[in-house]
Amino acid sequence: MYRGCVKIVSVQRAAELLRAGGLVAFPTETVYGLGANALDPLAVRRIFAAKGRPPTNPLIVHVADVAAARALVRVWPPAAQRLADAFWPGPLTLVLPKQPQVPDIVTAGLDAVGVRVPSHPLAQELLRSTGLPIAAPSANRSTELSPTRPEHVARSLGSALDGIVDGGPTALGLESAVIDLTGAEPRLLRPGSLDLDRLREVCGPLRWEGNVIARKGEAQLAPGMMERHYAPRAQLVLVDADDPAQLEAIKKDSQSLRARGRKVGCLGFGVLQLKADWTHAFDPQDPETVGRELYARLHELDERGADVIYMERPPAGNRWLAIRDRLQRASVKG
Ligand code: AMP
Ligand code: MG
Repeated sequence: MYRGCVKIVSVQRAAELLRAGGLVAFPTETVYGLGANALDPLAVRRIFAAKGRPPTNPLIVHVADVAAARALVRVWPPAAQRLADAFWPGPLTLVLPKQPQVPDIVTAGLDAVGVRVPSHPLAQELLRSTGLPIAAPSANRSTELSPTRPEHVARSLGSALDGIVDGGPTALGLESAVIDLTGAEPRLLRPGSLDLDRLREVCGPLRWEGNVIARKGEAQLAPGMMERHYAPRAQLVLVDADDPAQLEAIKKDSQSLRARGRKVGCLGFGVLQLKADWTHAFDPQDPETVGRELYARLHELDERGADVIYMERPPAGNRWLAIRDRLQRASVKG
């Protein structure tokens, strides 16, 4: 049905549109990106307008290879080389001091740019056939769920787009890890599907300050690390399944919501069990599958008209860091 309202385009057509200053959504291995020519400030302005994205939230610039990344930055420290060797092409963004040719609008006025080499074959083909760096945040309205399927993009951005390259569901389903290499010590700004332990093996010391902002509503640690983000339309409530008092309270809340005709979804890891309109249990051993499916499940519950989604907190440990991060931000009330 989305094919009727948004144009599915070939990679060749997408490349033409991008060269002409257009906006094209395309698949990466993480989520769908909303791309524009990163060197064209007017095209990039359309990204912010289409998403309703605050101008203080910088964009990641996608490039075909390490050489293209190095052309956009002033310094290339040994840690960048090691990380690129190990993880590019792949779901990792490196933040480095920018060359003047990168327009200020891309970096939200910062002196540093986030660069990434995606591995998705269609993203690679698009980058190679345009020969351009492509600025691409996730292809959704600001603060909403990221799209992992073309129909998610169409529903969120519809007519604001010139076309979508259809690559089916994305392989990883969570946004890239972002590492800031501009300071004295590398810093993880956003966890992603590459886990912290693996990143540290390659990078050496890597600071991660946790979800301080999301918990306390403090000033932003880094641009774009907004409190409410990645959020479904329904209210998302995270549940500590090992807290019997909370479990009891949640059961009552959900019963009374349903008695008043509200629709309730329940997503768990095997412990949380509620009488709900929709229930799904994720495997607590398998962060990869949960990462791949999480947004699609939340999109589906939104589409079905869920009012409240109760979700069991994911397990502890670094392998679940990115999922905990997204859920924490998604559960901040709008
Ligand atoms: P999105 O593309 O919507 O997944 O968001 C990209 C995120 O990458 C931003 O929200 C920032 O957290 C981070 N990022 C991108 N560029 C920079 C930059 N120049 N400095 C710091 N963080 C950045
Ligand atoms: Mg985003």
